[in-house]
Amino acid sequence: MSRVGGRWNSLTTRWGSQNVQMYMGFGRTMPMPEVDVEVLIEASRRSLDILLLVVINLHAFPARLQAETLKVFFSHLRTPVEQQLCEKDEPYEWIMASLQGIQIIGRKFFQRDAASRQRFIDCWPHILKWLKALLVVRDEYEERRHYSEVVGEIYTICSFACPGVLGQDEVIKLAFRAWIGIEGRDGKDHYTVQPLLACLLDYGGKTNAGALHMERMLQACDNTAEDLLDKIAARLEQATIHSSPMNIREVIALSSAMGSITYLGQSFTVASLRASVGRSLVAVLKALLEDKEISMNHIYAVRSILAGISGCLSHQKVDYAYNVAEEGILILLAKAALFDTEPQGLPPLHCASLAADILKHLLLCFIYNDEMIEKCREEVRGLYAGNLRFKDMLDETPKSFRETWDSFEAMLLENALLLRLFEMGYAPENGTCANRDCRVLARRTRFKKCAGCTFALYCSSSCQKADWGYHRTGCKALKNDHLSILRDRYRRLPRRVVALHINRYWDAIVRLSLEKGVPSEDLAVRITWNAFPIRVEVFDWHRLLEDVAKNPHLILAAENLYGPEGGRREWILVVLRMEGMEFPCIVHLDNKLTKSVQAPPCMSDTEEPERASFVDEDGNAIDCAKLDALRAGVLLAKSYADETGESVWDGAILRKAADKIIEEFEQELCEGEDAFKIYE
Ligand SMILES: [Zn+2]
Ligand SMILES: [Zn+2]
Repeated sequence: MSRVGGRWNSLTTRWGSQNVQMYMGFGRTMPMPEVDVEVLIEASRRSLDILLLVVINLHAFPARLQAETLKVFFSHLRTPVEQQLCEKDEPYEWIMASLQGIQIIGRKFFQRDAASRQRFIDCWPHILKWLKALLVVRDEYEERRHYSEVVGEIYTICSFACPGVLGQDEVIKLAFRAWIGIEGRDGKDHYTVQPLLACLLDYGGKTNAGALHMERMLQACDNTAEDLLDKIAARLEQATIHSSPMNIREVIALSSAMGSITYLGQSFTVASLRASVGRSLVAVLKALLEDKEISMNHIYAVRSILAGISGCLSHQKVDYAYNVAEEGILILLAKAALFDTEPQGLPPLHCASLAADILKHLLLCFIYNDEMIEKCREEVRGLYAGNLRFKDMLDETPKSFRETWDSFEAMLLENALLLRLFEMGYAPENGTCANRDCRVLARRTRFKKCAGCTFALYCSSSCQKADWGYHRTGCKALKNDHLSILRDRYRRLPRRVVALHINRYWDAIVRLSLEKGVPSEDLAVRITWNAFPIRVEVFDWHRLLEDVAKNPHLILAAENLYGPEGGRREWILVVLRMEGMEFPCIVHLDNKLTKSVQAPPCMSDTEEPERASFVDEDGNAIDCAKLDALRAGVLLAKSYADETGESVWDGAILRKAADKIIEEFEQELCEGEDAFKIYE
């Protein structure tokens, strides 16, 4: 205001103080006749003072006069940059005032008024030219946040009026520059996220080429995807944790931008998936949910952050999942689920379903990494121990969330127990020699791997030599993409878990193969581990041959199924689909490890049906009918917890249950070792 106030004296002498005084009251106490406003608007073509006066009062003009005023703004904007710089005393004031006028009139006006919208479209090249010129000197204007606000609103109008231009290089570059911002003379961070958001929404759902284009534009502004994401995270923290009161509208805009960037692909997705960004989002979520008073805008912001985190988790990067779990996301999900509101006249805010989606992504990560399982176990243990009201809070959440939470706990408990059983040697992995004339069965660890694919196992170098004639073609056909899938050491736990589950659900798999008409000697199973519940499909593995280029690693795995005895089914090919890739496992069918366990007497009371984590391709639950080691172990741990008053999430309780179960498997676990002795 000081700038405008400074002109006040000269303005009152030129215009006549009475008229101006009256005019300044326009729209409040003493409306000026429209005909006088028209004169004023006309005069704003020639007088900067009057132009500023018009801008100040613009919000109170009727629509017809706002449209007239826009014509004046557009005519000023059509002045060539060079001419304006040479001829005027205040080269930018005219332009800045005109742009601010457009900002004040705002997007909604252009939505209603088609003629003004067309004028905006026609003038767009001039507007862009001036926005770029002003960027250079914007620190003059930033202290009043003018430049950032103006660019923000103008891009918003643009995204509605002429979205086609948002993909142009110059438009994207300007959006990035306005986003990068500057430190103003007041020491504050001046930037706007709106233009970036407008460009990103225009790119939403486009191909990798779109992401690469954005990447090039960002590079042209001397920034990387990592810089971009780091800045969003820092500004999100600034708007929530370091601001009082919070700047919620900014949080919504920033988190929407974050969400869109995550989906862009390429380096943007990689940068979004870094631990620091995930942790930052959880910290912001925490601040929002723990603010003194939670408004509807808080809930919008919460929803936006949840959507961002869910989007990142859908990439199934276990480090990211681990970090958000460690940062304490679990209790925040339950808190967020309480805000499942439907504001009047607005789309419903489904925080609970987004929170449930996040839980599902997290539980799917249990297969990758034992640390993830143990981290979540500690977190859940802490929730029940540290917060006596936690159970009550869960009970208040919508049913859909509560059910997902129950599945999360069931999956967590099962996997935490399974880890302990695995440590004690339960369900060890077996392998078979890839030499089809040998096919000897032994503990997987006793084989040597083919150095090329690391997939084929051989009991001896003579077997490897004998098999090379067959194996060579498939092994040499593998490209780097497929080799990296086969060689990834993080597949070890999934392979062992999958082998156990295939055995647990074998009866159901046989039933499905009969229903689908897949002959037992051709049977393979695909497990889709990137959505919950986990889907199990049966198929004829020969179908993989239909797309040799896409499946060379799966076909190579299927080689292991040709046996010396024809249709004997001791091995099955399982394709594990996760993280957008397909990982083959050769699973040994061994019913000894999934035998029914003698149920201790204390368990009869607590027995409950197993929760369906697996479904067939029609969505029907698949269950393990036996009271096998895993299921009995879980029930045993629960009953130990009841007896002792300890938490079932306590490591010692789980260990005790695992010990008890392992006693039953002494014979089976030794048998494997005997079988191996022939090779020693
Ligand atoms: Zn090989
Ligand atoms: Zn062999």
